[in-house]
Amino acid sequence: MTDRIHNFSAGPAVLPEPVLRKAQEATWNVAGSGIGIMEHSHRGKVFDRIIDEAVANCRTLAGIPDDYSVLFLQGGASLQFSMIPMNLLPADRTADYLLTGVWAQKAVKEAKILGGKVHIAASSEATNFDRIPATDEIAYSPSPAYVHLTTNNTIYGTQWRSEPAVPAGVPIVADTSSDMYSRPIDVRKYGVIYAGAQKNLGPSGVVLVIIRNDLVEAGPKTLPTLLQYRTFAADKSLYNTPPTLGIYLMGEVFKWIAAQGGLAAMAEHNAAKAKLLYDFIDSSEFFRGTVQQDSRSLMNVTFRGPTEELENMFIAEATKRGLDGLKGHRSAGGMRASIYNACPRAAVEALVKFMKEFEQAHRAAAARS
Ligand SMILES: *Cc1c(COP(=O)(O)O)cnc(C)c1O
Repeated sequence: MTDRIHNFSAGPAVLPEPVLRKAQEATWNVAGSGIGIMEHSHRGKVFDRIIDEAVANCRTLAGIPDDYSVLFLQGGASLQFSMIPMNLLPADRTADYLLTGVWAQKAVKEAKILGGKVHIAASSEATNFDRIPATDEIAYSPSPAYVHLTTNNTIYGTQWRSEPAVPAGVPIVADTSSDMYSRPIDVRKYGVIYAGAQKNLGPSGVVLVIIRNDLVEAGPKTLPTLLQYRTFAADKSLYNTPPTLGIYLMGEVFKWIAAQGGLAAMAEHNAAKAKLLYDFIDSSEFFRGTVQQDSRSLMNVTFRGPTEELENMFIAEATKRGLDGLKGHRSAGGMRASIYNACPRAAVEALVKFMKEFEQAHRAAAARS
């Protein structure tokens, strides 16, 4: 469809076109029920099937073991920054955090607000979060309640290649908001995996939480009902009215990923897209990447131009060409192309083509500056 442009927004972000088409129909009449998805009771048979299917498809994609619950919550990934320490960090324990960006900092802030003891096991803050800490930089506390990490750092454009080793028996708690289901994930290695949907999984307003059942039960029963994981685990995320449209869309995105060949195929597709862009950046004398090569994100590609003036011109001209959302986050500056699962290869090709043209047109100006 020619009325859609290339969207590189960091989030909410591009969704798969077949999912959007299906959602258009479902808005009017879902599953032949004569009622639109937004108008169905969350207690009815139609929605019951939708949520069951969403959970089942989510489980199949990653082979989620039976002793994990799949929950759909609200409050964004940001509420998980609080719910995790509330439920999993007793007052006499310490939680370890791997500090790789602004989102990790916010998670630390919430853990501290609640009075928990927080140990920063590694940080790349001194170099403006330009990399993922190396194994030998990580120093855990003696017996952490959990180790928290951000698998993909949306703002800086860095990503863990694999999970860091953690002390035996300590659960990893991972904020996977910006790379969930962009590649295979071994759920067994984690205690909790959480992701706001609006980057890789669906619309804003719903958060996917995959949590091991012993951790569901670990939370104090003195917490407000809606802040206990058990409330949602006990009732299929249906204790109160859930974000029904968001759950429907996430379910459709899970089906779409499966139809693409699953997580391994997704990973291949994403790696190829990112390579196009990074290869061009590396060959360019005009643009440069902002993070260390071995830490580069396959989801958020951050780069700079020769001067801020040329960067602003680049972003403005790109927008005119139908390449939207390329302005970097204010904490990082420069440019950022978010190329999540649903971003088609053609969008990245169009971006690289424009970058080449822009470089050629402005190389002389850059050389003078
Ligand atoms: C976007 C983002 C968040 C914040 O998500 P909200 O749903 O807005 O609370 C947290 N962590 C990461 C890694 C993100 O990319």
